Amino acid sequence: MAGQRAWLADAAAQTGVAGPWMVSNMRAMPTSTVTRTLTGWGRIAPSTAELAAPESDAEAAGLLRQPPPAVGAVIPRGLGRSYNNAAQSAGGLVLSTARLNRIVSLDTAAGVAVCEAGVSLEQLMVAGLPAGWFVPVSPGTRQVTIGGAIAADVHGKNHHVAGSFASHVRSFDLLLPDGESRTVTPAGELFWATAGGMGLTGLITRATVQLKRVETSLVKVDTVRTADIDETMEVLAEHDRKYGYTVAWTDSLARGGALGRSVITSGDFAAPDDLPAAARDEPFAFDPRARLGAPPVFPPGLINRYTVRLANTAWYLKAPRLREGELQTIGQFFHPLDGIRNWNRVYGPGGFRQYQYLVPFGAEAAVRRSFEMVSAHPAASFVTVLKRFGESDQGLLSFPAPGWTLALDFPARTGGLGPLLDRLDALVVSHGGRVYLAKDSRVPAAVLEEMYPRLPEFRKIRAEIDPSGVLGSDLSLRLGL
Ligand SMILES: Cc1cc2nc3c(=O)[nH]c(=O)nc-3n(C[C@H](O)[C@H](O)[C@H](O)COP(=O)(O)OP(=O)(O)OC[C@H]3O[C@@H](n4cnc5c(N)ncnc54)[C@H](O)[C@@H]3O)c2cc1C
Repeated sequence: MAGQRAWLADAAAQTGVAGPWMVSNMRAMPTSTVTRTLTGWGRIAPSTAELAAPESDAEAAGLLRQPPPAVGAVIPRGLGRSYNNAAQSAGGLVLSTARLNRIVSLDTAAGVAVCEAGVSLEQLMVAGLPAGWFVPVSPGTRQVTIGGAIAADVHGKNHHVAGSFASHVRSFDLLLPDGESRTVTPAGELFWATAGGMGLTGLITRATVQLKRVETSLVKVDTVRTADIDETMEVLAEHDRKYGYTVAWTDSLARGGALGRSVITSGDFAAPDDLPAAARDEPFAFDPRARLGAPPVFPPGLINRYTVRLANTAWYLKAPRLREGELQTIGQFFHPLDGIRNWNRVYGPGGFRQYQYLVPFGAEAAVRRSFEMVSAHPAASFVTVLKRFGESDQGLLSFPAPGWTLALDFPARTGGLGPLLDRLDALVVSHGGRVYLAKDSRVPAAVLEEMYPRLPEFRKIRAEIDPSGVLGSDLSLRLGL
């Protein structure tokens, strides 16, 4: 019971959502479950499920072997950082990896980590950095589990040189819907159905990941402020050739001659010689603590066209026209939003939708058009990020492919947001693009089929390994994945 209480407290802390937590054993499962209302990071579309956190592969297999829930399906869940409901299952069973969170081994000579699936990227950084190893790919938050990173095949600012997360995974153990465990490698089709497969092929229980060698924990960053969308795209293309990491933070409300104006930050890990003398004693220093906590409640409507315009203008004007060689910490460069715990509350009780699209190279006019559509609309995107992707991997539902990707954040209750996103879908599809499943909250199933041409292959593998449909999520139900 003490262990269970600890888990409840831990799970509440990890997921960032307080109780009430009701312990129940209604399904007579070997592991206790709690009835929980869950959301993703955007805090929209809550649904209630039984939540279990097995402590071992055997416990997890036992849960999968139980008679399936009468209503709803079974779905894995990491740290709940996908934006909508990929890790939820209304009325079903959610398998949290909160207690499968041990780093099994770390080969500090080769940089190979064997981790349970609930290990977070932050945990891996804390363990790896003292020996000079960093995660091979980092999304904009380090509060992501290894299981979640594989299931969404996440990308980072280095996609143009490193590809997405699964490219650095040597193998993983997957508990299939019948509870059987299989070790899969990139040579097998199950690997590439699971990478980007949003938890719908089984529960990843552990993975072997190749880390990236770094000489220090600081990043040497160049910042460029661009005047418009043409310059933004030009500089991003140039920086892809020069730097390992690059991204543009764009002013979504700028119009006319300033459309698409951005602050581009690009860099690489610093060499020991780049460090000031005072920092050379501790070249791998890393402080993962969040500096600030967001208040628990924000008034609705705080993020609106007026406040976003003020914030965007101030932030753009404050950025240097050109600054070279600035040393930034991992937190400052990779995860600026992690500095404020629960920053997602700033959007108020209605939550927010993130929309991220990809269009192939050659569709630059579509990128420009999307900025025109967004800047002319009453909706205001607070965090707007433009980047170029490199080669895709073989993930059947992996999002990245060579081209431009734009991520936009909108308060969910903005009037007219739905029609705007529908028009963006149409633009994206007409240019052979797609939206990111880890962030999607509203794309229609028929539109998704046009976006992901390998969906039939994915469905075929799903039908083979899960003929009775044990696995499923609120997302997969809506999209017929
Ligand atoms: C601030 C912020 C910035 C972000 N930036 C980026 C970015 O730059 N690039 C990017 O690619 N993504 C980004 N994301 C999205 C995030 O990286 C992904 O959604 C990731 O999957 C979240 O991992 P998680 O552990 O929280 O998984 P969850 O959100 O809990 O689950 C995500 C999916 O993974 C599945 N899953 C989780 N664990 C397992 C497992 N053990 N076995 C099988 N399936 C599993 C779930 O079923 C679900 O479908 C960002 C998110 C936030 C909040």
